[in-house]
Amino acid sequence: MGKRYLMQNYAQLPLVVARGEGARVWDAEGRCYLDFVGGIAVNSVGHCHPRVVAAVREQVEQLIHCSNLYWFEPPVELARELSALSGLDRSFFCNSGAEANEAAIKLARRYGYERGKENPEIITFTHSFHGRTLGTLAATGQEKFSQGFTPLPAGFRHVPFNDVGALWEAVTPDTVAVLVEPVQGEGGVYPATGEFMNALAELRDKEGVLLIFDEVQCGLGRTGKFFAFEHYGVRPDILTLAKSLGGGLPIGAAVAREEIARVFRPGAHGSTFGGNPVACAAAGAVLEVLQEEGLVERAAETGAYFKKRLESLREKFPCIREVRGVGLMLGMELDRPGQSLVSLCQERGLLVNCTAEKVIRFLPPLVIGKEDVDQALEIVEQALEVFLADAC
Ligand SMILES: *Cc1c(COP(=O)(O)O)cnc(C)c1O
Repeated sequence: MGKRYLMQNYAQLPLVVARGEGARVWDAEGRCYLDFVGGIAVNSVGHCHPRVVAAVREQVEQLIHCSNLYWFEPPVELARELSALSGLDRSFFCNSGAEANEAAIKLARRYGYERGKENPEIITFTHSFHGRTLGTLAATGQEKFSQGFTPLPAGFRHVPFNDVGALWEAVTPDTVAVLVEPVQGEGGVYPATGEFMNALAELRDKEGVLLIFDEVQCGLGRTGKFFAFEHYGVRPDILTLAKSLGGGLPIGAAVAREEIARVFRPGAHGSTFGGNPVACAAAGAVLEVLQEEGLVERAAETGAYFKKRLESLREKFPCIREVRGVGLMLGMELDRPGQSLVSLCQERGLLVNCTAEKVIRFLPPLVIGKEDVDQALEIVEQALEVFLADAC
């Protein structure tokens, strides 16, 4: 299915997903799977949350698209809510995480340009992932993603993650910003250390370097705080969001302080679909659900339980090198490639993902309960036994 007409850039697993509800999806034959991939951190409020469905349905009957030549209500409401939640001032809406980061990069460059920096440079980190556009590929600190797609835009400097000394050494008079995921996702689930985030704050205070936090994956409750930066007490100047924001609809956002947002004057940036009323209505419902159903606290609690259980699994299976992450953004690093473990879990009714070759990543909807964690771990344990037997 699909092999003939779709470009083969995804290496899909042999599973046709037909329906989803809460933390579960069903295939075309009606077989049920516990979904611990969650659309790669998209389905945070669960599949087809009734309030998201209702918001979309209502908006679709009113207005699906107009144009940013005019005003309409949903993006205004959403921007107001994001300001209240983040403490930042203004939002720009687009359609994906990569576009949110592109907007952040352009904001930082223009901000620097207006302050006399003609060759603005942005510091990013090893293991990072910021998207697949040429600009965000240049920002991404993993060469495997950009191989064969050069030349890339200049102006990025990659520095070892969590290395305070290397960070300070990389700063030059051209440095305008640091772009960082407070908890790295695709790179293998690596949280920033407190020391590193404090150094970033100091860099801002001393050198006026802007802090751009890419919370496309780790934001919006995923780590057990509304924003991952709250774990560190360091607020960004620009924050990027996407993945879970639209409850499954495509939407991204760059949220910034007034002084920075100001550099986007009319005509400076734009997106035809940006601020789409249906996507914004869905996102408004997502933010309500996260707060009213206490999903952020729940992610912290369920995540702590999950992590503790993964750590005890590690005692039983020495092939598990390390368990990392926070809240419901967890990674289990193996001593060998993990893709076949993904298939073994799938055969037993659990969807998980493998990133950075050896890291089994868990990004379940935040609505899961402890019994879902227990069920998932039972499957992981069975799968690990077969995985290890197969290896011998
Ligand atoms: C997924 C991701 C992106 C890219 O988002 P797209 O919507 O795929 O463009 C950027 N940054 C981080 C941290 C991500 O996890």
